[in-house]
Amino acid sequence: MAEAAAADMAHVLVFPIPAQGHLNSFLHFSTGLLRAGLHVTFLHTVHNLRRLGAAAREAAAASPRLRFLSIPDGLPDDDPRDVGGIPQLLEGLRTTASAAYRDLLASLPRAGGTADDGFPPVTCVVADGVMPFAWAIAEELGVPAIAYRTVSACSVLAYLSVPKLIELGELPFPEGGNLDEPIRGVPGMEGFLRRRDLPVQCRSLTDTYQDPLLETVVAATVQSRKARALMLNTTASLERASLAHLAREMRDVFAVGPLHAMSPAPAAATSLWRHDDGCLAWLDGQAERSVVYISLGSLTVISHEQFTEFLHGLVAVGYPFLWVLRPDMLGASQGAALKEAVAAAGEGRSCVVPWVPQRDVLRHRAVGCFLTHAGWNSTVEGVVEGVPMVCWPFFADQQVNSRFVGAVWRNGLDMKDVCERDVVEGTVRVAMESSEVRRTARALAEQVERDVGDGGSSALEFKRLVSFIRELSS
Ligand code: UDP
Repeated sequence: MAEAAAADMAHVLVFPIPAQGHLNSFLHFSTGLLRAGLHVTFLHTVHNLRRLGAAAREAAAASPRLRFLSIPDGLPDDDPRDVGGIPQLLEGLRTTASAAYRDLLASLPRAGGTADDGFPPVTCVVADGVMPFAWAIAEELGVPAIAYRTVSACSVLAYLSVPKLIELGELPFPEGGNLDEPIRGVPGMEGFLRRRDLPVQCRSLTDTYQDPLLETVVAATVQSRKARALMLNTTASLERASLAHLAREMRDVFAVGPLHAMSPAPAAATSLWRHDDGCLAWLDGQAERSVVYISLGSLTVISHEQFTEFLHGLVAVGYPFLWVLRPDMLGASQGAALKEAVAAAGEGRSCVVPWVPQRDVLRHRAVGCFLTHAGWNSTVEGVVEGVPMVCWPFFADQQVNSRFVGAVWRNGLDMKDVCERDVVEGTVRVAMESSEVRRTARALAEQVERDVGDGGSSALEFKRLVSFIRELSS
């Protein structure tokens, strides 16, 4: 990425929703902007900025053109901010945070002025694509705004198609209907997209839009048409067809990913949990490609029954495993589960930790496969490292992503909706031992490496985006 002139006065305020995957994705994006010479204000919530503490302060201190500001998220201080509270979080953002954001943006200096801390006026907003208020308010205040969806193009297209699916009678699903039935109406996905591959919230519809999360995300996706552009953390070689369909619907589309491979930011700067680096030392002691790495992201919760099925499957397949069990993942049975996992695997055969530096783990020579919930960040991180995947999607975009892994890219297997020990054992075995899956995963990684390298499609898209932002800023 070309370094720009020091006198660059383009200043982007980036505003992610306060969830781990979104924070990571926005920080890599910010790193790319900083490397291109732009100024960046990263808007956190008060809760998260406090939680990040010194790590955020160090990141800002390391870059004179980066600063972190914060606004309240509208939730009480003691709210756990877990997956069950996502609709309330989105509501808090739409009400309390949006008012604070408006005040903040209005209070920042306008063109011609300079803030006390030496930052030029904000000339562009890049806001999370599930917060349409953020770009509407920016435009009202005279600041051009871009929507950034941190998920796959295929899932955005699926959400955008929901009104059409309702019109076609594909949604709601008939009661007791077969989830393996193919779906018509999502462009480019006829033939392989089934009912079970749509965002899981579609299953709870008994009439149009009774799921608040689905309703919010669909509405935001439809409203992205109003933003100056839609930016996605993906690449043309993975999602050419979906990107082409989206380009017909949006004012402009930029496919600039995977950003972590192009402009990696220090993981600690946005990590809401402390990394356990001991797992890397444990990996050092394992044979090449012998370890199953299991992580279901920052939001997934599982029942004790599901935990037990995973555990038995993993023990039966016989490879050592590294398992991320977040403190809030299993509720009260967490402590017992941890001991059970370590004991069941046998001495030294497992490493169970609350949080890992995932990118370092995935690129470790000892990792043979990745059992993932197919969150988009995890998916592209696995793709970039060429690690075969087993997908067990939990919610939202993950059902669509895992179908693409299993049926389109074929760099892994889709274990959607099944959590039985025999299936876990069989699926993990294929991912660990199939030379075809490994070859495909490697080829995909090489393709994506070309996309993010000099002259590659994503690198060129990033340059085009920076020019677009400069033009909006002038
Ligand atoms: N992650 C991590 N350490 C862990 C588990 C996850 O650093 O132990 C990171 C992972 O690298 C990814 C993010 O957390 O960048 C999770 O985002 P994703 O979109 O995969 O899933 P979500 O958490 O949004 O469900």
